[in-house]
Amino acid sequence: MTTAQEAQREASRHPLDDLLRTERIPHIWCPGCGIGTAFSSCLMGMKESGIDLDNTVMVSGIGCSGRGAGYVKLDSYHTTHGRAIPFATGMKLANTDLNVVVFSGDGDLFAIGGNHFIHAARRNVDLTVVCVNNFNYGMTGGQVAATTPHLAKTTTTPLGNPDSPFNLPLLAYACGASYVARWTTLHARDLTSAIIEALANPGFSFVEVLAPCPINYGRRNKEKPLDTLRLFQEKSIIKNDAHPTELDVDWERGVVLGTFVNNPRPCSTDMYDKVCRLEEKPAKKSAA
Ligand code: SF4
Repeated sequence: MTTAQEAQREASRHPLDDLLRTERIPHIWCPGCGIGTAFSSCLMGMKESGIDLDNTVMVSGIGCSGRGAGYVKLDSYHTTHGRAIPFATGMKLANTDLNVVVFSGDGDLFAIGGNHFIHAARRNVDLTVVCVNNFNYGMTGGQVAATTPHLAKTTTTPLGNPDSPFNLPLLAYACGASYVARWTTLHARDLTSAIIEALANPGFSFVEVLAPCPINYGRRNKEKPLDTLRLFQEKSIIKNDAHPTELDVDWERGVVLGTFVNNPRPCSTDMYDKVCRLEEKPAKKSAA
């Protein structure tokens, strides 16, 4: 290879090439989907954080976002539906030195996996959970989810969603997560910074990423890909330390982004060692 060819090859390298299984690309994500941006911010945050990537695993559940684990050139696991968090918890308990990152979607983490989420947050298991919230079940055709906004249309709510969605940061806070942030895919740099902070927190960290799903959610709600990004730009209110009760996703009123909780506390393994691995006490002398 000539020097010019080498230079051209170097110039065409992507900064994340060393973390991507490029042989698996093209990926499955649709044009205009926000998952790629969320994934790239997550990998960038992992790289910039300085964590030992040889000692890091990524775990995903099922869904479009759940494909993330298959594209990262690290130890990674694509688990069954809703089971990314218990799988990740098991890995962390078995090897407390591991950095464990869960990258999955709102359906996987908060519907079928909801019970696992609340208890891992309660116990402050040292995991970094990145949730791509695109307001519906994209992979299976755009059904209503636990995050679908009130009155939004999906394949299973053609007249509009009659229910109210979860406020995910409030749920994470109420369950005991020690780091909670929310950004959109339009705020890629802030999202990267949040992931760096989340990785540094020695406990359960939750980062919600609001992302467009133009193919299923956008199409049914008459929202073109750029409309969603415009909404993210015009209706986002950056307010760090906002109280989690203020964080409903309501585009009419505006949606608050930022870091809301950064409150390290002993994590599950610290508590386990303190309570269950007491130092050996000297044996009592017998009263002979
Ligand atoms: S269906 Fe939606 S979430 Fe899934 S890849 Fe396509 S645009 Fe993205």
